[in-house]
Amino acid sequence: MHKMLHPKADVERLYIPRKDVETAFKTATIGLDHYLKHKEGQYPKRVLEHERSKAKNSISKNATKFKREVTMPEIENREDKSASENAKALKHVFKSRMKSMKEEKWKNKALHGQYPKILEKPHVDTVTTNKWLSSNLKGETEGLLVAAQDQPINTRNYQKVICGQQVESKCRLCSPHEETVDHIVSGCEVLARREYISRHNNAAAYLHWSICKDHDIEITDKWYEHEPETVIHNKDNNITIMWDMPVNTDITITANRPDIIVKDSVNSTCKTY
Ligand SMILES: [Zn+2]
Repeated sequence: MHKMLHPKADVERLYIPRKDVETAFKTATIGLDHYLKHKEGQYPKRVLEHERSKAKNSISKNATKFKREVTMPEIENREDKSASENAKALKHVFKSRMKSMKEEKWKNKALHGQYPKILEKPHVDTVTTNKWLSSNLKGETEGLLVAAQDQPINTRNYQKVICGQQVESKCRLCSPHEETVDHIVSGCEVLARREYISRHNNAAAYLHWSICKDHDIEITDKWYEHEPETVIHNKDNNITIMWDMPVNTDITITANRPDIIVKDSVNSTCKTY
């Protein structure tokens, strides 16, 4: 209704914590049930008796049901620990079972599962990859981006593999590769020649704009209106910033053109980006 979840985005993913209310509720129920069963004294016993006799919303019955859902291992109640400590340990196991079950379910999906599988690859930094989810994006924007990662986008591969249509699934620009979202975003050699370069330059221009700002060089208000000059020099602090400038070296280095070079003549340092 509020466009926070794209109609074709993944539902399982919605319940992988940032905060997962369902898991929180089930975990609390199981913990409370365990506590009531093991806490000394007459009151917990009476509460438990009353709970067991309830037809609806019984803590005991719900706890049994929730534990069955995740096939909980039998957990020994340790006599040397208090009832609340034991309940806490149980909750911990339950919570991680819930989480891994949801992740499994998500990963096992043919289309939506591709993204979480990629996240597990050793070259992926999961913390920085997911950092954007904690920024203040509008719900609708986040919803759209998440849907794009879930890939319900009308690529040829999607039409053939997911929708089962009788169509060519190869890329319509470069043909040897499957036309998937990943391919279009970063794997197409035809797009690489122009589109990827201009995207790269836009990102580097933002970096250039921020670096200029840090070194008190006059810049436009809006970063996207910034057009990097080949060489900028600030006389006051003796900083020179170079954009896309080849560097001659004694030994030939083929990759000799960093995007940005910041030369600090006062401290005799040079940084490249
Ligand atoms: Zn292609």
